[in-house]
Amino acid sequence: TGLVKHFPITKGLLRRQVGAVQAVDGLSFDVRAGETLGVVGESGCGKSTMGRLITRLLEPTGGKIEFQGKDISHLNVAGMRPLRRDVQMIFQDPYSSLNPRHTVGTIVGAPFKLQKINPDGGIKKEVQRLLARVGLNPEHYNRYPHEFSGGQRQRIGIARALALNPKLVVADEPVSALDVSIQAQVVNLLDDLQDELGLTYVIIAHDLSVIRHVSDRIAVMYLGKIVELTDRKSLYERPMHPYTRALLSAVPVPDPKRRAKRERILLLGDVPSPISPPSGCRFHTRCWKATVVCTVEEPPLIALKTGHQVACHHPENHEDLKPDDAALPV
Ligand code: SF4
Ligand code: MG
Repeated sequence: TGLVKHFPITKGLLRRQVGAVQAVDGLSFDVRAGETLGVVGESGCGKSTMGRLITRLLEPTGGKIEFQGKDISHLNVAGMRPLRRDVQMIFQDPYSSLNPRHTVGTIVGAPFKLQKINPDGGIKKEVQRLLARVGLNPEHYNRYPHEFSGGQRQRIGIARALALNPKLVVADEPVSALDVSIQAQVVNLLDDLQDELGLTYVIIAHDLSVIRHVSDRIAVMYLGKIVELTDRKSLYERPMHPYTRALLSAVPVPDPKRRAKRERILLLGDVPSPISPPSGCRFHTRCWKATVVCTVEEPPLIALKTGHQVACHHPENHEDLKPDDAALPV
């Protein structure tokens, strides 16, 4: 069958309201073909909702989601079918996302059955190829999920997600349920598969430690909003949003010398409820830089530097920008 090169682009202005809970509120961003977009934020910031919107496991309440130039915000069953091939999701918990009563062969082969696709050489052969590709023994296709370790189960989830040759893979906290020692292996596997298969990733995480090495760009979310979005290097070297700085200060540093020098920012209080988010900047109840304007005026997400968007009235690391650098379009 013909080999085609695809350039997936998703663009979205998303707004989701579940009752009065604004899980995701007016998000606007794009994912570029072949990149890894990391999405970080504390639990309840709306990052999982965002992932489920992109993969269209959820329908947006408002706004628009585009995939490869096509509006996928509202699709009927027939429209959803090709999307279910092109866009796949990897879930956080490999324990609960795999049916314990099905063999690995049935689980990884299910997408072919659902889409009525018959791979060359048959489903079993293709499943074995997929298992080998994610580092599992292809002879184990007859085993059940409980016979595998947590890391291996996540590899099964990855094999299932890759079965239909997707273009975009959204991974929602793919390693946070795993031992720290296993996390890097699984993330590295995802990275290798991306290079090999030309995949585009959105990887969701609750902190910056796991995704920092694999993300090309990173979006930081707080209470349903993106507060900062830029390339990995800028985010680590010159974070502009106070919340990003706090998240960065929480990333473990193995080297004791560097650890001693490093700033530590402890955020006070809990994340406020998304049912009635704070007025103005939603972060103002926990921000040490907050002023009166922060409590009344919501800072828009704007590019203070090419490709570096931030939503803050008093951004960090911004003083040294030349006037010409400021307020450039993204
Ligand atoms: Fe802090 Fe104000 Fe910036 Fe919000 S807008 S992050 S409260 S300084
Ligand atoms: Mg990569």
